[in-house]
Amino acid sequence: MSDSKKFEGLVGLEQALVKVPLEQFKRAFKVSQKHVEKEWAVLASSAADHLAKIEKADASTVRDDALKLIDGLSARFGALKKKLQESKEEEALYIKRSRIRLQHLDDLLNVPSQDSPAFTRWSKTQLDRVLVDYMLREGCFETAKGMAAEAGIQDLVDIELFSQSKMIEDALKRRSCAECLQWCKENSSGLKKIKSNLEFNLRLQEYVELVRSQNLTAAITYLKKHLTPCADVHLKEVQVAAALLAFEPSTLCVRYKSLFDPSRWDQLVTQFRANNCTINNLTTQPMLITSLQAGMAALKTPMCYQPDAQNVHCPICDGKVYGILAEKLPNAHHVNSCLVCRITGDIMNEDNLPMALPNGYVYSQKALEDMAARNDGILTCPRTGTQFHVSQMRKAFAI
Ligand SMILES: [Zn+2]
Repeated sequence: MSDSKKFEGLVGLEQALVKVPLEQFKRAFKVSQKHVEKEWAVLASSAADHLAKIEKADASTVRDDALKLIDGLSARFGALKKKLQESKEEEALYIKRSRIRLQHLDDLLNVPSQDSPAFTRWSKTQLDRVLVDYMLREGCFETAKGMAAEAGIQDLVDIELFSQSKMIEDALKRRSCAECLQWCKENSSGLKKIKSNLEFNLRLQEYVELVRSQNLTAAITYLKKHLTPCADVHLKEVQVAAALLAFEPSTLCVRYKSLFDPSRWDQLVTQFRANNCTINNLTTQPMLITSLQAGMAALKTPMCYQPDAQNVHCPICDGKVYGILAEKLPNAHHVNSCLVCRITGDIMNEDNLPMALPNGYVYSQKALEDMAARNDGILTCPRTGTQFHVSQMRKAFAI
């Protein structure tokens, strides 16, 4: 495959990089648009009310009312202007970020070859991005911020997005739904598009907590206000929720016991995380893991999980880290198999012949000769511990 084709393939994997600021821009624009529409409606109706009052009033009060109206309108216009200014700054940031990210991908397409210094520089930035992304997902914000600043890639990573997600996840872990409900409000159209029931689940959880604390009056009010209106879509859940009023948290009835289960808070965290990734076009798995798995799938062979057949140079054979990560991956497709020396991990071929010991085990010529040179011609089979003289080894032929 030519370098340019490979680079196009790499660019194809970077959809999230471009889509994240675009989604953020769309959201910021929608929020400011809604705000303007709301404020404009209030301004228009209050102006109309005042004008109606002025028409009815006598001449002496007209002037005072008009001044009051102008003062009121002016204050509201001031607030609206400030809000629009903030939205404009936010939108400008996302536009700038989109430009920088597109430029970053364009840089790759303009790289002359994989051996060029330009590609090494691009790959270094890419590696920094992957590491910062991983740290952000793991909640190591200070380290991630420091690394992003040092590498000058603040506009290529999504620090604010992950900070906000962390704040919401922490709130859920503290058993507070308010922050996540606010997020649902800001992302209502995105959640609708993916048919998410996160908001309903959050409301249900707030209701369950009221029942748990046996605050039944508040629970009934909450049920009527937030859950009953969802009965057209979540009828069964609303019915079960209503019946929950008759049960105490210590109930053994499975259906109601599961609603009181504290692990529902962990499920909310998981659902929020998944919805947040989908809405923002982020991959659910960190890029670091995806990249590692892509590399590992190219190395993995059926031998990696056989203790007697492992290769000292193969990271997958080292079962402690990569072997676990690679467990669910397919084996690499090898058209031709090759013989690898168990002692050195080197490939055995015409330059380094496979040599058989009298017990039938085969090792590379270089490994055995090296062992013999260090032990007065004595060879010790690493598998059985049996000793032989170097003169006893024979060439092995594979058919
Ligand atoms: Zn292996």
